[in-house]
Amino acid sequence: MDGIVKKQFSEMETYIPGRPIEKVKEQYGLERVIKLASNESPLGPMPAALEAIKKYSSQLNRYPDIEATILRDTLAKYYKLPRENFLIGNGSNELLRIAGQAVLGKGDEVIFAEPSFVVYRMVADFFEAKSVPVDLKNHTHDLEAMLAAITEKTKLIFICNPNNPTGTMVSRTEVEDFINKVPEGVLVVVDEAYAEFVEERDAYPLDLNYSVNKPIIVTRTFSKLYGLAGLRIGYGVAPPSYVAVDQRIRDPFNVNLLAQVAATVSLDDKGEAQKRYQQNLDNKRYLYKGLKEVGLDFVSSQTNFILIDLRKDSTLVFEKLLEKGVIVRTGEIFTERYRNYIRVSIGSKEEIDIFLEAIKTI
Ligand code: PMP
Repeated sequence: MDGIVKKQFSEMETYIPGRPIEKVKEQYGLERVIKLASNESPLGPMPAALEAIKKYSSQLNRYPDIEATILRDTLAKYYKLPRENFLIGNGSNELLRIAGQAVLGKGDEVIFAEPSFVVYRMVADFFEAKSVPVDLKNHTHDLEAMLAAITEKTKLIFICNPNNPTGTMVSRTEVEDFINKVPEGVLVVVDEAYAEFVEERDAYPLDLNYSVNKPIIVTRTFSKLYGLAGLRIGYGVAPPSYVAVDQRIRDPFNVNLLAQVAATVSLDDKGEAQKRYQQNLDNKRYLYKGLKEVGLDFVSSQTNFILIDLRKDSTLVFEKLLEKGVIVRTGEIFTERYRNYIRVSIGSKEEIDIFLEAIKTI
């Protein structure tokens, strides 16, 4: 397809997902494989979501509500903001791409931290924009350096908060300070995919009442705490004028019926959400303790994953973990400088025990 497909698509990197469980089972002849590679919930969808999915399956012959009205109303009630401020995506990932589509042209610049979520670079590539990665400082967004990287060509800035793959966060006031200093004409996307796991709740998240009428999109997802990664649904909060633009850009019916109903009832079950938050926190502490016992350093995390310093090339350890039926992520996927790290989703206590046992023997 050379010469037919646009050059940037022949050259850009492909998103590399965590290894699928079934493939690893087959490759290594294993019966038990655990996946701690994609920061999914170990708890499955919420019971209410499973019920809703069953109930609405018989309506799959119909197109879903194009405006996701019930879900947006539920979000509006949850956040005490008008429905007009909410946009729904086929995963929050779609919202990141649409943000690029809305503002980027050839040669524009996109600023993001490095290492951070790999999709930001892909969004820049899609629209022939230039990626401007800014190194993390102490594994955390260096907002000052990101401000200093802004030029007249900057159109889009991604802040991943908490950051994937380091699990660190910047505080509400730091983000607000940053936004106040960003010049006009730049869109800021604050990607809060791991918002629900943050332990330092006093300093987080961004106040939506503050951000909602500025050129800022805050994105969140039902893929993580809510356990709906397989259904693909995320949301964003933005000014109504941007929500209208998003509606023109996105595919009609971008979010399927089952995703809409499952997300709605999941958001409504605050008790279950709190239970999941607490369980992640307990398991995080359990994993911290285990890592300390093994003598491994790690970065304190505000999320459902932990970045672990192996002090040696992690790709060999990654292979050995696979042989033992444990799938994790190696740091060099994110950037060469993090080659010695692995990122491990927190998972259940049982999964943590399996991981710790495997890493001990390796
Ligand atoms: N942002 C970040 C930081 C993520 O880690 C992910 C998922 N890995 C996403 C966005 C996309 O999530 P989804 O499309 O499932 O909502």
